[in-house]
This record gives sequence, structure tokens and C-alpha cells, in this order.
Amino acid sequence: MTDRYAVIGNPVTHSKSPWIHAEFARACGEDIEYRRIEAPLEGFTAAVDLFRAAGGKGLNVTLPFKQQAFRYCATVSERARSAQAANTLVFQKEPYGDNTDGVGLVRDLTANLEIALGRGSVLLMGAGGAAQGVVGALLGAGVSRLVIANRTLAKAQALAARFPGASACGYDALAGEAFDLVINATSAGLSGDGPGLPSGILRRRMLAYDLVYGRDTQFLAAARAAGARACDGLGMLVEQAAESFFVWRGIRPDARPVLAKLRAA
Ligand code: NAP
Repeated sequence: MTDRYAVIGNPVTHSKSPWIHAEFARACGEDIEYRRIEAPLEGFTAAVDLFRAAGGKGLNVTLPFKQQAFRYCATVSERARSAQAANTLVFQKEPYGDNTDGVGLVRDLTANLEIALGRGSVLLMGAGGAAQGVVGALLGAGVSRLVIANRTLAKAQALAARFPGASACGYDALAGEAFDLVINATSAGLSGDGPGLPSGILRRRMLAYDLVYGRDTQFLAAARAAGARACDGLGMLVEQAAESFFVWRGIRPDARPVLAKLRAA
């Protein structure tokens, strides 16, 4: 029988995950079905219970349910525990939760964009679910300095306090600082805003990376204008999906041809 998977979120209509996983399955010779489930905002647990009862093998979880997914699981990976959020669920006897966002970002930075994170200083903007998911992986990749800045300073401080090696500040305190990599993990770009960086942070010979994909955000446009290399989060999306596929199927698909097809579409 074909094993069944899905991405659950709200909204989820525009998710590229079904197409990405169909490409992985074809390339790896795996027989899977993968669809979208739009759960009501108050109906995550009921929708997951229903999917499991019908024999579903695993789920990807997207906004706004990653924290609920973490709490739903009987056991979780260290990556999910460190993020306090799960984006990949595996259903055996009990539900198991993992988080592949951090490894997806780091793999896109290091393998696809060929950035040497080991000696780099990194500014991470945002302290929401996406930022929580990537702090552990960035520190694990050996960055020399990780500063978390957020509009609501208390949230950045609370996040940094969970990770020895990270520090927190507000945007104003960044004036005069220099970083090799600036990551925008805020949702500011979705409303056409920039996250509020002081001028001078974006400059030549640095990488500006926006987790948002599928649109040219104000952050990426400002980075290019300052002479920085600018990249959106499409590679992270495909790489986190490849890691989820590996968690489910034990085979790691090559993300690069799938990313190239998406970029060309
Ligand atoms: P979230 O939990 O709602 O957090 C939103 C963050 O953005 C908060 O830190 C918030 O600051 C900040 N923010 C929102 N509007 C802002 C503005 N106008 N100026 C400055 N800061 C602002 O959302 P999330 O789950 O972290 O997701 C963030 C983005 O990452 C989303 O656009 C999502 O699509 C993207 N994402 C991409 C991938 C990928 O694979 N590429 C994976 C995960 C997420 P406050 O705390 O002050 O409100």
C-alpha cells in the first residue's frame, strides 16, 4: 500500500511541499502519496488524529502549528527540543517529532551557497518560530558570534538565554556593528516592510539571507543596493524537505536539481 504523508498548516493552499516531495519520491524510486491539509486554527489535534487513524505515516507542519506539533509528540529529537517546535512528525505506535528547519538553512548556506560558517559572525533578525528553529543549527555549525535582534527585545533575550553562545539586542544597538552573514527570520517582508536595521549593517562582501521566498523583500533589495550578496529562503525550503524525506524514508534525496527546477519555474 502507498504510504501517505501531508503538510498541515493554515493557510496551506500555496505550499510547494507536495510538488517537492513528489520530485524526491520519483528521484528515489519511493512510492508515497503527499497532500495538503488545511486544519482549522483551533483544530490541529483533531486533524492530526484523523490523519493518523486513517493510516497516515507522517506530516510536515507549517504555520501556525509548529509549537502545537511539538507538544503533540510523545518523543522528540534533540533538534525539536532545542527549537521547542516540530515541523516533521513520524507516526509509528506513538507520534515522534523532529525539526528540520535548522539543518535545512545550514545546508543551503554551506552546500548550495558555499558559505564557510565556521569563522563567521552572524546576525539573526527575529525571535519567532522560524528563528527558534535555526539558532541551535547555526551554533552547531560553529559560528564565531551569533547576535539575535528582534523588534520585541524581550523575545530575543528569552531566545538567546536558552542558547549559550548567543546574545540578544534591539535593532538600535546594532549601529556600528559588522557581520559576515545577516539572516532575516522576521515576517516583515510579507507586509512589504524591512525589519528595521540601522544603515551601514548591509555592505559589500557579506551575505544577506531572507527566510521568506517567492518575493523580492525590502531587506533583499536593500542588501543588493548596498553591494551585498542577497538570497531568499527557497533553498532552505527544499533542504528542510529533503531532511524530512530522510527522516521518513531513510533515503536522502539530492535537493539541488529540485531547487534548480523551482528557481527556473
Ligand atoms: P512568527 O513566529 O510569526 O514570528 C515573526 C517574527 O517577525 C517576530 O520576531 C516578529 O517580531 C517579526 N516581525 C514581524 N513583523 C515585523 C516588522 N514589521 N518589523 C520587524 N519585525 C517584524 O513567524 P515565523 O514562523 O518565525 O516565520 C517568519 C518568516 O520565516 C515567515 O515569513 C515564514 O514564511 C518564513 N519561514 C521560511 C522557511 C523556509 O523554509 N524558507 C521556514 C520557516 C519560516 P515581534 O516578536 O516583535 O513581533
